Amino acid sequence: MGPLQGPGFFLISILLFVSCIKIIGGSTSSDLFYTYFDGGAYISSEDSFLKNRSSYRRSHMPSTSPSLEEEDCGVWVTKYSEEILELAKRPETVEWLKGLRRRIHENPELAFQEYETSRLVRNELDQLQISYRFPLAGTGIRASVGTGGPPFIALRADMDALPIQEAVEWEHRSKVPGKMHACGHDAHTAMLLGAAKILKSRENNLKGTVILIFQPAEEAGNGAKRMMQDGALEDVEAIFAIHVSHERPTGTIGSRPGPLLAGCGFFRAVISGRKGDAGSPHLSVDPVLAASAAVISLQNLVSREANPLDSQVVSVASFNGGDNLDQIPQSVTIAGTFRAFSNASFYGLLKRVEEVIVEQASVYRCSATVDFFKKETQIYPPTVNDEYMYEHVKKVAIDLVGAKNFIVVPPMMGAEDFSFYSEMVPAAFFYIGVRNETLGSTHSGHSPYFMIDEEVLPIGAAAHVAIAERYLNENG
Ligand SMILES: [Zn+2]
Ligand SMILES: [Zn+2]
Repeated sequence: MGPLQGPGFFLISILLFVSCIKIIGGSTSSDLFYTYFDGGAYISSEDSFLKNRSSYRRSHMPSTSPSLEEEDCGVWVTKYSEEILELAKRPETVEWLKGLRRRIHENPELAFQEYETSRLVRNELDQLQISYRFPLAGTGIRASVGTGGPPFIALRADMDALPIQEAVEWEHRSKVPGKMHACGHDAHTAMLLGAAKILKSRENNLKGTVILIFQPAEEAGNGAKRMMQDGALEDVEAIFAIHVSHERPTGTIGSRPGPLLAGCGFFRAVISGRKGDAGSPHLSVDPVLAASAAVISLQNLVSREANPLDSQVVSVASFNGGDNLDQIPQSVTIAGTFRAFSNASFYGLLKRVEEVIVEQASVYRCSATVDFFKKETQIYPPTVNDEYMYEHVKKVAIDLVGAKNFIVVPPMMGAEDFSFYSEMVPAAFFYIGVRNETLGSTHSGHSPYFMIDEEVLPIGAAAHVAIAERYLNENG
């Protein structure tokens, strides 16, 4: 028994705990979106498989285990955040970050073709004397900084561009016709390299290991899934990622606990009948009518079968049949997308989309096949933020950019392949604002006019560093 385990220590502990609670202040439970999801429609991140053990312990241990608030009191001081931000904002670092981002922006590469981008990342890591594994998923990289021992925490950046022709006129516009970094993945890659540099310079402070994941093919092909198959999350107990947002001013940080981005799937159905003379419809089997009925019936999935408080979407975006005005065609193809915020709702929709199309076709004596592009891996699960990891991002962000610059954002119907990581380990995905009206960085991602305010780069790099260093500091 040591000297601090008597009754006096117990009293001191109680006093410290109470003062911690007072310092930390208000609860955040009021902004929990998923408290609205009753009846099993929502699967919390805790229910998903293979969750991290230490996070489970944290959320299930009684009061004898240190709470989030208690941990705050001990080891981390605001001075560290200030130091990190100062390192990130050094003029030479900012110029280096802008240079990296501009080089990547000028040479956009599509999914699984990020050869030069990957080479650039590896060159920088070599110069920083940071070790890494390569290749994962073709062009992906898993680098590590720190002690080499547990805990392992991951930061992720995506490297791929989009098949879009850039319409922004500026000095560093895309040099590749038809390809553009229109989602900000160039900035994500630069910010994670910035984090690598700062983390390396603070390696002695790290009480564990930071894994830096540079992944291919976020926009298409589920690069995250391939990265995990190649061991990207080996030993990792938590993962975080940044995405730039044109909706919020530069440097603001936003996120939310629970479901943040929807699960997303696509479908294409071929409804077959028997072609024939349109003037004698009784001699044919009409797939246009059958497909029309299927489209109408699909609308009922959300309006009649889904819990109104559990947001879902089914949209038919394409309807193609014959082109002869005097002929009933042999077949009609309809296609579209469906979205939901939980796996239960998402896979429920997938099943019902198929049933409705096949059954409606049969009502009209047609047959139907439905393809969900599973082979092309076009299914993204919902992105669900772990509550503890969200709280971690929130307190780091408030420390770094101030309480007024942290925003609890609404969920969005968009999708992200970060969701594959968030299914495997506790995760938090968050946005960092790049909106600057003066510069004109107000266009949405995937717009040919998309641009960012580069002043975000040091702030994003600092956010990465503070998230990782503080997590290890408090959990290592
Ligand atoms: Zn995108
Ligand atoms: Zn993106």
